[in-house]
Amino acid sequence: MYTFADRRGTSLTLRPEGTASVVRAYIERRLYDLPLQKIFYTGPMFRYERPQKGRYRQFHQLGAEVLGDGNPRAEAEMLEMLTRYISRLGIKDASLQINSLGCNECRPGYRETLYSFLLDNKDGLCTDCLRRMEFNPLRALDCKIKGCIEVTAEAPSIVDSLCTECDGHFKAVGEALTMLKVSYEVNPRMVRGLDYYTKTTFEIVSSGLGSQNTVAAGGRYDGLVKELGGPDTPCFGFAIGLERLVMLLKEADVLRPAPLVVFIPLGAEAEASAAALIPGLRDKGLKVIEDFSAATLKKRMKKADKLGASFTVILGEDEIREGVAAVKDMRSATQEKVPFDTLYERLSRCD
Ligand SMILES: [Zn+2]
Ligand SMILES: [Zn+2]
Repeated sequence: MYTFADRRGTSLTLRPEGTASVVRAYIERRLYDLPLQKIFYTGPMFRYERPQKGRYRQFHQLGAEVLGDGNPRAEAEMLEMLTRYISRLGIKDASLQINSLGCNECRPGYRETLYSFLLDNKDGLCTDCLRRMEFNPLRALDCKIKGCIEVTAEAPSIVDSLCTECDGHFKAVGEALTMLKVSYEVNPRMVRGLDYYTKTTFEIVSSGLGSQNTVAAGGRYDGLVKELGGPDTPCFGFAIGLERLVMLLKEADVLRPAPLVVFIPLGAEAEASAAALIPGLRDKGLKVIEDFSAATLKKRMKKADKLGASFTVILGEDEIREGVAAVKDMRSATQEKVPFDTLYERLSRCD
């Protein structure tokens, strides 16, 4: 965590994630009295560790939580929303992986089993895993070091150690996802760094960012509200790192800025036409700059070029009379007459 002393020596810690804050608000503001307890948040978060590709010390997360609902279908509903959101953004290669981390009944047993397995195979583990296995052996399943991946490939699976309750819950999540036509894969190696997670955990992974491939992650954390002093409340949620999401969108080439259009009206009548046309185009998402100057057309075209315009729209007397605009594609330097009512279609087509 990013912890430092302020000028008076008071120790401050910047929040590393949003879930604990949501839970605090939930308890302090008695949000459990609300009929619907679905919450989303977005904001800056902080980490102290050395930044890597797509990771910053100050980053932004978007997250959502459903509180007070332990039904597996509530999880599937949220996962359906999340996968739909990610695919709508244009990330096509994302896939959903789910796992169960069990509960206080069954996880300790699995920990023991895994610990003995790791102890028997400790020669193949990295120093991090050797250290971590003493207090959280599950983290070895998560290790990205080749030797550890090889060793743990043979490790007993947590999915086989679940108690009846967790096993039934996990199967029900799978069935609910299938009902919603959300495809998923069970990945028994997926664990979470935070130990408040119980039962279902998940990640949405994309091959876009090399080894740093998690787009969104989350899971069930049924014990946290009670641990922080609230009523016993089942919870499920996720978080998305926005900087990484933006990187993926850039890689997928879906984050293209809207083409810039520069309007060049010639004369008062043309200015009135420009005024009538521009707001509608901006409404539809085009970036439009109007050149108000009275300079020569040549100078105004030059300026539009400097601004990086994809198109210039020249409105002269002849054009107005015909109800058309002279649209110049600045890259190909071709010009064509486009009727006012198809102007948006032409300008939004940037080829
Ligand atoms: Zn269990
Ligand atoms: Zn390791």
